Amino acid sequence: MESSNEISLVIQNIKEAFDNAKNIIVIPHSYPDGDAIGSALGIYLTLKATNKKVSLISPNGFPDFLKCLPHCDEIILANKTKSNIDDLFNKADLIICVDFNMANRMENLENYVKQSKALKILIDHHPEPENFCDYIYQTTQASSAAELVFDVIEKTGYKKYMNTEIATNIYAGIMTDTGCFSYSSSNPNTFRVASELMKYGVNADIVYDSIYNNFSFDRMRLLGLSLNEKMTYLPEYKTAYITLSAKELKNYSFKAGDTEGFVNYPLSIKGVIFSAIFIEKANNIKISFRSKGSFPVNKFAIDHFNGGGHVNAAGGESYENLNDCVNKFIALLKNYEDDLNT
Ligand code: 5GP
Ligand code: MN
Repeated sequence: MESSNEISLVIQNIKEAFDNAKNIIVIPHSYPDGDAIGSALGIYLTLKATNKKVSLISPNGFPDFLKCLPHCDEIILANKTKSNIDDLFNKADLIICVDFNMANRMENLENYVKQSKALKILIDHHPEPENFCDYIYQTTQASSAAELVFDVIEKTGYKKYMNTEIATNIYAGIMTDTGCFSYSSSNPNTFRVASELMKYGVNADIVYDSIYNNFSFDRMRLLGLSLNEKMTYLPEYKTAYITLSAKELKNYSFKAGDTEGFVNYPLSIKGVIFSAIFIEKANNIKISFRSKGSFPVNKFAIDHFNGGGHVNAAGGESYENLNDCVNKFIALLKNYEDDLNT
């Protein structure tokens, strides 16, 4: 999105698309996080309030700690329910994608979307979105997709449908993607939107408590293991990383979402500006990167680990074994010694 003229044209197009649509599908990215689910539920509930037929289809499940979000039980999980998904896509005249910039992040839904004749809208805050939608409302200046979902709802005149449940979902999206308003991605509009949302009755303390103080005992112990035994600190590279094997995850009864946020802890060490976590999954190693300041972890993830993301928060994957993958990471750090020490 560039000039204000271009923005208002996109908004005008989106408004017409909202007004004209009868059968809508909203899609977050695979393994959705708080922003993806909060954004998707926010736009889903808003359009549903207009008596249109709206479905929220996620490629797969979301962590238990998001199960407090209003109406999340209405989300259709594509990997679990095969039956009516073909039918929903056949009937859809509008598809709204939120919180991702590459079509392959929809995984099992990618082909449905690509083959659909429906009008497609993307609302996202990742850099350089792929061209798989008709109208793209995108800027990396926003803290979260949820912040942009609010802007779209407001600018298209759909704010009249806002209520506590919609506001709570959007607030949760912003809260989780900004590290509770602590990251540099927060900007004046982020706080304006949060303030607007609170006027609709969002209980910020309850949203926080339901999401962050609701973990299992096993998850707390897995965090203990990660910090105490599985974290390596490399002061010469201002880097610290955590590794977790599949066996360790099993020992602590790992459930989806349990390791969410672990990658942020190494950044609390004085002097550390680059952190990573390597998690051994059934078929690959899932990696998350975080940084402070100007070190672009999205570029690092794209260049070396088939990934992407934001400047300070990115992820990727590897099909090597855990040891080889971590050794590759350590070897790479040498090439970035100057960048990490500026
Ligand atoms: P997380 O580390 O929390 O899974 O993801 C952080 C950010 O990196 C997210 O905004 C997400 O968009 C991006 N990201 C994570 N994993 C991948 C990946 O495998 N591929 C791409 N392209 N982006 C990813
Ligand atoms: Mn996001």
